Formats: sequence, structure tokens, C-alpha cells
Amino acid sequence: MTTTADGSRQASQHNPLDDARSQLAEAAQILGFEPGLIDMLAVPRREVTVSIPLRRDDGTIEVLTGHRVQHNLSRGPAKGGLRFSPDVDLDEVRALAMWMTWKCALLDVPYGGAKGGITIDPRLYSRAELERVTRRYTSEIMPLIGPAKDIPAPDIGTDEEVMAWMMDTFSVAAGHTVLGVVTGKPASLGGSAGRPSATSRGVVHVSLAALRHVGLDPAACTAAVQGFGKVGRGAARFLAEAGVRVLAVSDQYGGVAHEDGLDVAALEAHVDETGSVVGFAGGHPVDGEDILTADVDLLVPAAVEGVLHAGNAGLVRARVVVEGANGPTTQEADAVLAERGVTVVPDILANAGGVVVSYFEWVQANQAYWWSQEEVEERLAQRMTSAWTDVMNEAAERGVTLRTAATCLAVRRVAEAHRLRGLYP
Ligand code: GLU
Repeated sequence: MTTTADGSRQASQHNPLDDARSQLAEAAQILGFEPGLIDMLAVPRREVTVSIPLRRDDGTIEVLTGHRVQHNLSRGPAKGGLRFSPDVDLDEVRALAMWMTWKCALLDVPYGGAKGGITIDPRLYSRAELERVTRRYTSEIMPLIGPAKDIPAPDIGTDEEVMAWMMDTFSVAAGHTVLGVVTGKPASLGGSAGRPSATSRGVVHVSLAALRHVGLDPAACTAAVQGFGKVGRGAARFLAEAGVRVLAVSDQYGGVAHEDGLDVAALEAHVDETGSVVGFAGGHPVDGEDILTADVDLLVPAAVEGVLHAGNAGLVRARVVVEGANGPTTQEADAVLAERGVTVVPDILANAGGVVVSYFEWVQANQAYWWSQEEVEERLAQRMTSAWTDVMNEAAERGVTLRTAATCLAVRRVAEAHRLRGLYP
């Protein structure tokens, strides 16, 4: 990833911040906002870039770069994941932070939005090195985070162990254990029941609702899932459990397909053993890119931003696209899909299950009282269903796409908080 001196993306590359800002501009225009308010919502409230010196296992020193962006704080503490990826740059983190603000407002959880990222390929570092990176980064952003300020969580390339290291680093500095500083922690350390599967469950709740909405019976439907990580893997499993035939899946190494439907449980066992879907004996190899244009009813892009673009949106054959990833559809692709009558369930609704159960985890940590898995899953289902209904109603009233409806709803709630609080000084 090439960046300019201030960490922004070069103009020639796809920049998710362009998508995020143009979604905001469209919603703000529909809502009739004044330009000053749009500017306030387009720009992050705070952002910090830190350098992270790492002593590698061989004794050499390497300096990494990390960011934490708090896009908005009007509805409560900032909330959002921490990403470890070689593609991380400041503009990506800014876009992801803005989407977190809308996601939290849409699901009506009392948070603003934030995101963190470190430019690193975690596959090239030992666990001990990743622990040192995490602890140093946490210590650099320490003044910004806390249960009432900004609460990180896992994202691409990070996991519950990374959250345990962050929690520990913060707690050692505070002199006491602070469970509410991060979510997505291990279950034995204050993590919520149902958090690891929450994003995938949410994706499947809205996928089934969306298929029914376009007149399809999920039990007679087929699906393709791009990405087999924290979101895609569970989505494939829960779709199969709901009777949807999952015909094709992919990960960063390649794809696998079976025209009668993949045995997802067997595929998961293969991934546990080998680390990839590639080489699974219960299907034939396919190009990872081809998953996006597979002949299926439902497509779930559950990897990274910008995978559906002007070059392939015209080739998508799915009737419904449910965005498991953040920002997988560029604005150009969005227009093409809308024009072709493809229903796109936007990321800020589709993948919100993760932050909803993060909120439940934070509530439980603050109360030091733990809920059962059944309770978590029931409350998650209620929140997803109610947000789905809100978005459907808004889309019908305004005659707009689900993305525009969801963004309008969310942006309106954030603007309302701004209005009520007033401008200081
Ligand atoms: N990284 C997840 C997301 O993009 C979860 C964020 C959170 O739980 O704070 O929604």
C-alpha cells in the first residue's frame, strides 16, 4: 500500500474513505443538512498515529505504524475494532471509524465510532512479537481509550488473545483489572457468551430476512461466501444450518465449490487442519475472484473493502448481496447493483451483530454479571430484527436503497445527538 506523507491513500488507489464520504454526502443531502453539519460528520473528531518500535525475536529492531481514529463521540464512548493488516493506512481507518459510528447508531447501541489499525502482516510475526506490538500500541494510545472513552475489539488479523493483552496492558497501568476497556475477550476473562459467533449470526439473520423479502424460500436457496475468517466461516455454517446450500467459499489463498452444496462442517475441519479452504477434498478448486460472480441466490462478501467494483458488479449473479465485510462494495458497484435490481444489505446493518454483542459484553463487564448464551442470542436476534425492520420501513418511505435508508437513519440519529447537545463553546 502506497501512502502520501500524512498517511492518506494515493489518488490512484481505491480509497474506502471516498465511499464512506460519498455515502454520507448522499444521506445528508436527502436529510437536507446544512454544509457545516455535513463537514462535522465527515471529519473524525480525533485521530492519532503512533510508531511502534518492535524488538524482533532475532534481536533486530523494526518500527511499525499504528493509528486510532475516533470518528464520533456524540452518542457515547467511541467503539470499534483493531485491525492488523499490511493494507492498513490512515484513510482506511478513517473510513472504518465512520462506518462504526453509523453502525452503532443504526443498532441503537450507545456508542460513537472508532477504529484502530497497525500496518503489519501478522502471518509473518511470532505470537511473542505480536504480543509486544499489541502492548506497545496499547500503551501509546492509552490516554485515548477506556470503558467510558473508547473501547477496542477484534477485527481482521486480531483475536481474543490480542484483546486479553490490551486489557492486561491497560489494567497494569491503571493498577486494577479493567474488563470494560475492550470487548471480544476470551470467555474466561470476561468475554461474553456468543461474542465469537455474533457477527456471523447477525449476517445470517438478515440474509434469511432479505431472501424472504425478495420472495425466495431460504431452504431452496444457494449461497457463496467470500472470506472464511471470523465472519465468513460462521456465516457459511449458520446458512447451511438454516438449509441454504453453500455452493462456494473462498479465503485469501483460493476457493472451493461443489454444485450440490459444500459439507461446511467437513470444510471447517479441513480448515482447522490446514489453515485454508484450499485442497478440501469435498469440492473442486475455483478462483477466489470467481466466488463473487457465482450463480447463486445469495452472495456474502465477508473479507475486505472494495471487492465489488465497477469491473465486476455487472457480472454478479446473486439476487441478494449481504455485506459481511465492512465496505466490500464501492459506490460505483453499488449503483450498478441497484440498477440491476440486486438487493444489497449494507455492512452497517448486515455485520452489526459483532458490535451488538460487544455492547452486551461491555454491559456485563460494567455490571460484573454474566448472561447465558441463550440470553445473548435472543437479544441479538431482537436487535437485528428491529434494525432490519427500521431500514425496510425507511427504504420504503423514501424510495431508496437499503444502504441509503440505513445511512439516513443512522446519520439522523447522530445529528440529533449533536443538535441536542449543542455546539460548545
Ligand atoms: N470489528 C467489528 C466491526 O467492524 C466489531 C467492532 C466492535 O465490536 O467494536 O464491526
